[in-house]
Amino acid sequence: MPDILSQIKPKIASIVSEDSFKTWIEPLAFIELQNSTCRIGVPNAFFRDWVSENFESIIVTLLKDVTKEDIKIEYVLKRDEKAAEEKKRVVVKRNVSFSQFNPRYTFENFVVGSSNQFANAACLAVSTNPGKTYNPLFIYGGVGLGKTHLLNAVGNFLVRHGTINPERICYITAETFTNELINSIRFEKMDDFRNRFRKMDIILIDDIQFIAGKERTQAEFFHTFNTLYDNMKQIVVTSDKFPRDIENFEERLKSRLEWGLVADIQLPDIETKVAILNKKAEHENIDLPLDVAFFIATNSEDSIRSLEGTLIRVGAYASLNKAPITTDLVKQIMSHVMKEKNKEITIDMVIKEVCSHFTVTISDIRSNKRIRSIIHPRQIAMYLARKMTDSSLVSIGERFGGKDHATVLHSIRKIESELSVKKELKSTVEKIVQRLKST
Ligand code: ADP
Ligand code: MG
Repeated sequence: MPDILSQIKPKIASIVSEDSFKTWIEPLAFIELQNSTCRIGVPNAFFRDWVSENFESIIVTLLKDVTKEDIKIEYVLKRDEKAAEEKKRVVVKRNVSFSQFNPRYTFENFVVGSSNQFANAACLAVSTNPGKTYNPLFIYGGVGLGKTHLLNAVGNFLVRHGTINPERICYITAETFTNELINSIRFEKMDDFRNRFRKMDIILIDDIQFIAGKERTQAEFFHTFNTLYDNMKQIVVTSDKFPRDIENFEERLKSRLEWGLVADIQLPDIETKVAILNKKAEHENIDLPLDVAFFIATNSEDSIRSLEGTLIRVGAYASLNKAPITTDLVKQIMSHVMKEKNKEITIDMVIKEVCSHFTVTISDIRSNKRIRSIIHPRQIAMYLARKMTDSSLVSIGERFGGKDHATVLHSIRKIESELSVKKELKSTVEKIVQRLKST
């Protein structure tokens, strides 16, 4: 019997985040397919409930693509050595992932301009005096503007200067924090989980907005925060928003995150962009004339990540074709990038991005649930699916759990009319579009 589950796993990987895939999808074991029922082995009941709630609709949809049948899923609990093995593996992996910082993300490689100098200075201060100056330090700013870079720079600095035992520095994304928490509940290892964070001297948490709407994770983070704070251990947190503006985020967390120093990173001005381009060009041995740097800086999106992408592309193109880098060449390449990117965007990518923005699950978006916190993201996702892909109303409806085209059309119209009056919605939509274009 063909293992149809393995066939669809790569597709699931392209829809869900890498972390979620490793935690929830990879361990699923195909047992058999009989009478349109697919039996899947799972480690325990908690795992089963989570997968069924969050991923079952994707699995069913994809299985249907393969088998052309409506497949029912049946979970089979496997409380055996395999789970025990897994338990060991998870624990070992975690220890290794400590104190692993991206070596490229240092203060030396960070170009300081007016948009980020405050955040940079705050991170430097914390690195030289952890736990003593600004605690917690909260850095916020848009996508691709250097938050993760700065957080790693703090880690690299501390390791290099030997101020703190590398094992007592923890860098973790809020998403990993959440997944590991769930894992710990699943394997009854909550004490380990708590102790691990609580014995740290410094904790660097990236993208805290991810835990918005997740009660248990917020509660756990709250206690971790308190323990570290009371012991004067340094906490650095990044987010895409100011604490108060994070939706579905506990009041007590918002206020604590504002106790220390809040520093923002703003959109870079042209000069900073040019300086960043020059620095990267030098590093990559790309011969970048100043007028071309200005051209790229003026015409690229605001994210520094996309700035870098353009530069690498231009450099590669010029060296492959043995052509000098000129403004004309860049024009040609940049328009090419835009076209190709538009082509790549799929309905599933839109759904995924909208889900992560609003922290709702993909299965909720595809469900028929009629609560505002789900309806609203669902409508935005339908609107964007229409705007950013070539899909018809019917095929959009299908990817949203089989809605009819009238529903899709209604959603699109609704968002369109709201967009002209609601500023906040407009910026939300723009942000999601930006993210979709830069992935
Ligand atoms: P964020 O976490 O805010 O989304 P990142 O820290 O991942 O953004 O930054 C995206 C890319 O841009 C990274 O490769 C980073 O090195 C680079 N970058 C961002 N800001 C700067 C800067 N001021 N100087 C040099 N590189 C930067
Ligand atoms: Mg980041």
